[in-house]
Amino acid sequence: MKNFSAYFTGVSTQVPLLDGTLSFYTNLDNAASTPPLKSVMDTVNRYIPYYSSVHRGTGFKSQLSTYAFEGSRETILKFLGADPAEYTCIFGKNTTEAINKLSRRFSFTSKRNIVLTSGLEHHSNDLPWRAVAKTIHIGLTSDGQLDETDFDRLLGLYANQIALVSISGASNVTGFITPVHRLAEKTHKIGAQILVDCAQLAPHRNINMLSLDHPAHLDYVAISAHKMYAPFGTGALVGRLDTFTEGDPDLVGGGTVEIVTLEEVVWTSPPERDEAGSPNTVGAIALAAAIHQLEAIGMEAVANHESELTTYILERLTAVKGVYLFGNTDPQQAGSRVGVIPFGLRGLSHFKVASILGYEFGIGVRSGCFCAHPYILHLLGLNSQEEKTVRQNILSGDRSDMPGLVRASFGLYNTIDDVENLVNALDIILHNKFKGDYIQDPTTGEYMPLNWTPEFEKYFSF
Ligand code: PMP
Repeated sequence: MKNFSAYFTGVSTQVPLLDGTLSFYTNLDNAASTPPLKSVMDTVNRYIPYYSSVHRGTGFKSQLSTYAFEGSRETILKFLGADPAEYTCIFGKNTTEAINKLSRRFSFTSKRNIVLTSGLEHHSNDLPWRAVAKTIHIGLTSDGQLDETDFDRLLGLYANQIALVSISGASNVTGFITPVHRLAEKTHKIGAQILVDCAQLAPHRNINMLSLDHPAHLDYVAISAHKMYAPFGTGALVGRLDTFTEGDPDLVGGGTVEIVTLEEVVWTSPPERDEAGSPNTVGAIALAAAIHQLEAIGMEAVANHESELTTYILERLTAVKGVYLFGNTDPQQAGSRVGVIPFGLRGLSHFKVASILGYEFGIGVRSGCFCAHPYILHLLGLNSQEEKTVRQNILSGDRSDMPGLVRASFGLYNTIDDVENLVNALDIILHNKFKGDYIQDPTTGEYMPLNWTPEFEKYFSF
């Protein structure tokens, strides 16, 4: 198997363990955020001496900054297969901001005012819609895939009322990949548009928005740079130019106008119309640098590597008694999903498993609901009474029995050794051979080792 770790920075950092030793960190929490590519850090460092304001500055540094910022936009459009004659790239903080922006900028009509989303969405692709439209959730199959039969049924039932379909390209919980182009074609047939939340898809797969006259095109795509090896606080909403040429921007202020008098405001053209205030130039350049590197490696090579890791981890975990896996657990089908693996250990709280992995093995995973409460409850098969109890407990400040899973998620730099570290650690935990005594904070649900606090200032200070 290929090893891509040399492309990354921070992947051989040592961290302290509970027993006083240091261990290389095994990061299996890439579905939250990824470490930076070396080329991203290098590009940012090469740019920084020229860092200056963009757009209206006349000095050389300003002009260079504008050139680099606008070049980043072009890189993102190209990466997503979006023709600049039809699509615009609007920079913002992240996917959450991108989807919120579209929710406020999309033109719902009194007739078409339904958003069809699904039960597997990240809250960021659900709550913004609930705030502005009648939101209907497409059902799921028992293993947690989007139920396309239900999608077809809803499209038929609300054909004249659906304005937008908004779904994930890949799930950040189970790694399921949605057949977005097939859904897009069906969506367009009823006269609606489609947004694909690509936060979890973009780091793993090629995305092609296609031309607007293609029946299977994607009208809008949202991405986050911090999930694509470029941690400088940027995301992008790429979408149809016509949407952003119309209407008032959701945030107003500097940069959004053509002209302002005391009586009148004329908004400027996209994308600036929707980028109020000074932009995050460094973030945009970092994202473009990450994309250049991913393209040089090749998205096919990225997908192949992650699929090999996913096959391997599924083979290993299905063989460990006491580990139960969610979603598609078939190693042979690893290539059809992204490398996000949700699991639990029999008889152990997900919070506790994640803590022990961190404190005793230097393994970073995530546990809980991954900002997808409805999806987790579905995967765990909770009935409505159990859901009610969960709700009551949370509202009364007690998260000790909060349902959830543990999630291991791959980045391009992960290796078979990382999988081995995890599997060995899980085996030790399952055999009750971990060393620490842990105490749970009921208000957060998290477990802390007794008599141990990390000395962060030894490792980092200002
Ligand atoms: N959607 C999906 C599928 C995600 O995985 C995430 C991030 N985990 C988001 C939306 C939100 O992304 P961000 O926090 O970068 O806004």
